[in-house]
Amino acid sequence: MKLLRRLHRKLRETRMFVRAMQSASHPILAQIIPIRRCNLDCAYCNEFDKTSAEVPLETMLRRIDRLADLGTTIITLSGGEPTLHPDLDAIIRRIRARGAIATLITNGLLLTPDRIRALNRAGLDYLQISIDNVAPDDVSKKSLRVLDRKLEWLARYAEFGVTINSVLGAGVRNPGDAIVVGERARQLGFTSTVGILHDPGGQLQPLAAEHRSVYERFRRLETALFSFAHFDHFQENIGRGLATDWHCRAGGRFLYICEDGLVHYCSQQRGRPGIPLDEYTVDDIRREAARPKGCAPFCTISCVHQTAMLDEFREHPRETLAGILDRRRAMDPRFRTPATVKLLSWLFLDQRRRGVFGKMMISALRLKRKPESPS
Ligand code: SF4
Ligand code: SF4
Repeated sequence: MKLLRRLHRKLRETRMFVRAMQSASHPILAQIIPIRRCNLDCAYCNEFDKTSAEVPLETMLRRIDRLADLGTTIITLSGGEPTLHPDLDAIIRRIRARGAIATLITNGLLLTPDRIRALNRAGLDYLQISIDNVAPDDVSKKSLRVLDRKLEWLARYAEFGVTINSVLGAGVRNPGDAIVVGERARQLGFTSTVGILHDPGGQLQPLAAEHRSVYERFRRLETALFSFAHFDHFQENIGRGLATDWHCRAGGRFLYICEDGLVHYCSQQRGRPGIPLDEYTVDDIRREAARPKGCAPFCTISCVHQTAMLDEFREHPRETLAGILDRRRAMDPRFRTPATVKLLSWLFLDQRRRGVFGKMMISALRLKRKPESPS
C-alpha cells in the first residue's frame, strides 16, 4: 500500500513539475492557515497566537476551491498548529479532490496512531515536522526526546511522505543536535532537511563556525541528485552573512493565505499585497510574480526559493542543470552524471527534440497542452 501510494505521489509530482514548466501563470505552491492558534510558543516564532478560533470548514473549503481554480498545484496547511483544527481531514480531502498535492506542517505533538491513520484516509501526501533540539529548552519544546515516540508511530503507520527539518542558527544552543535529529530521521526512513533560524529580532546572523561545519556535514548526508539541498545556495549565503541575487515570485508562484483569507507574499511579509483570495486573479499572479521584492537578498523562506528554482529551470534549463551537476561534483569528486539524466537532457534540452518528446509526455500525463488561464 505504502509503495503504491508513493508511486502515485511521484506521478502527480511529475505532473506538477511539467505544469510548472508549461506555464508561469498559476501558483506552484500555496500555504494556507486553517487556524492561527498554537499549543506551543517557540521563542523565535511570530506566526501564532493563543486565542484565535479555527477558520470555519465552509470558509476553508471555499478557499481551497479558489486556489484550485487558480491552478495551484501544491497546497500546504500550516499555522499556528493545523492539527488543532477539528475538520482537518475534510480540508485535506477537498485539496485532494481538487487535484492538488496536500501537505501539512505540524509540530507533531497531537499525533497518535489513530490520527496518523485518519490522515492516511484523508489522502495526505506529505507531512513536515521541525525538530529544533534533542532536549526541550526555553527556546523550543519541539524536541527529539518529546517527539521520538510520534516519529516511531509515523514510521509504522504513515502512508504519506514524512520530512523532518532540523535547525541551525540564532537560538540553537547545541548545533550538533541537528545531526542527531537528521540521523534519527534517516534511520526511520524519512527525508531530513536543515533550515537556518533568524534571531529573536527577525534578523539574520552569519552562522558561527561550529554551526557552519554542522551545516556542511548535514548537506553531505544528502545523496539524491535533485534534492534542493544541492542548490540551496541562498542557505550557504545566509550562513556566511551574504546577500543572494534571486527573483522572488511570491504573490504569483507562491501564495500565503492568512486566517482572514487575504493573500500575502509570505508569513514574514503580511499585508503585501493583502488582497482577498476570493478576488485574486491571474493578472494579480502575473503582476506580483514579476514585482521585485526589496526583502529578497536576505530572505530565508526556503519554500519560496524552491518555487523560484523551478522557474529558473523553466527559463534556463541548461544552465540550471549544469549548476546542479557542478555543485554535486564539488561535494563528491567521484560523482558521475547518471545515465537517466543524460537521456532526459538529450530528450528535452534540445529545441527540436523537446517539441516532439514534450508533446508525448504531456499526453502521457494527461495534461492540457496549453493550460487555461484562470480568471
Ligand atoms: S510550533 Fe510552530 S507555530 Fe507553534 S509556536 Fe512553534 S514554530 Fe510557531
Ligand atoms: S523575498 Fe522572502 S521575505 Fe520577501 S516576499 Fe519573497 S519570500 Fe517573502
